[in-house]
Amino acid sequence: MDLEFDKNHIWHPYSSLINPPPVYPIARAEGVRIYLEDGRGLIDGMSSWWSTLHGYKVPELNAAMQAQMGKMSHVMFGGLTHEPAIELCKKLVALTPTPLQKVFLADSGSVSVEVAIKMALQYWQSQGKAGKNRLLALRNGYHGDTFGAMATCDPVTGMHHLFASQLTQHLFAPAPRPKFDEPCSDEDIAELQQIIEQNHQKLAAVILEPIVQGAGGMRFYSPEYLRKVRELCDRYDLLLIADEIATGFGRSGKMFACEHAGISPDILTLGKALTGGTMTLAATLCTDRVANGICSGEAGVFMHGPTFMGNPMACAVANASIELLIARDWHTQVGSIQSQMERELAPLKDASGVADVRVLGAIGVVEMKQPVDNRTLQESLIERGVWLRPFGKLVYAMPPYIISNEDLSCLTGAMVETLSAL
Ligand SMILES: *Cc1c(COP(=O)(O)O)cnc(C)c1O
Repeated sequence: MDLEFDKNHIWHPYSSLINPPPVYPIARAEGVRIYLEDGRGLIDGMSSWWSTLHGYKVPELNAAMQAQMGKMSHVMFGGLTHEPAIELCKKLVALTPTPLQKVFLADSGSVSVEVAIKMALQYWQSQGKAGKNRLLALRNGYHGDTFGAMATCDPVTGMHHLFASQLTQHLFAPAPRPKFDEPCSDEDIAELQQIIEQNHQKLAAVILEPIVQGAGGMRFYSPEYLRKVRELCDRYDLLLIADEIATGFGRSGKMFACEHAGISPDILTLGKALTGGTMTLAATLCTDRVANGICSGEAGVFMHGPTFMGNPMACAVANASIELLIARDWHTQVGSIQSQMERELAPLKDASGVADVRVLGAIGVVEMKQPVDNRTLQESLIERGVWLRPFGKLVYAMPPYIISNEDLSCLTGAMVETLSAL
């Protein structure tokens, strides 16, 4: 592979072209392994950023794409429709909480967040309350990299200062304090409640990642906190946008993380694992109330329509992925990954460099006391046949659900060996 060209010409996520970090050449991938050009196989502990639930080169997913390719790879969705999209939206309406009835198919997670924000704003316009045009987001939150989404990310780690003049100024509540297994006291919700009490007339919605704050800190918080946010949204007439782009499809131990709290949002975003990690596709769902509002408003329509909206290949493979998820009993898979990770990462709790070890569903997080040297750590993990992408103080794994006990032990073992030494 022409790595020189790559280094000099190609942007990678969050990378420099003056001082590019190493990138490893991957030739192919199968099962839970990605294979380097030199033939070495690495267990993918990242599921390619939360997406490859069933691993790589999955016969059922490939067959779905091939079959669809034989009919049509794409047609525009304006004025046309097709079976893969209808079937997918049926599945999404059935799987998600009952109040969510309408589906917008978007082409990436960030776009589905843009769509969610637009929905909230258009809804309030339709109600004659155009002044409700700000969002309340949580510190440590992450919702994507486009401008609308970026404006709702954590103001510090989300790099707001770089684009301050271009970003809508939203409101931010502290990151939820109570952990997953802790109750949420009145005090824990007090600051968020106060912001809502004082600003509800200009607030369109609360946007949050339910239960698991991902890229902004890998934090798991109390379902009771989420229930209280839902109650406050109802009391003060705000919409609740749940961003389940990372947590959707079983990752947190429930099909959707909102289920931990038994709540339903007004707007829901899905992405990442939607196509089982094969193609880019996302979705924004909303309630009848939101959709009816938007469509009876001034515009009379929802103002968004990507060129590749409802791409038939992506919809077909999403359908196959969801069927596989259910057929393979994701709940048992995720449950056993959770207990094995809890058991095998536990020794790290006593390691001197480690601040916290936490596991929820198929997500295992080791938080170090100091930021780790990514490059060295990644090299020693690769020597042990494991692919992880630590950031800051966080070294975490969210393997494909199909990972075997042996491969998971290899993954956790590599984490324990490398991190105990730090
Ligand atoms: C990854 C992610 C996004 C952005 O999705 P992209 O497909 O990368 O645009 C938004 N919200 C959350 C919670 C995510 O994890």
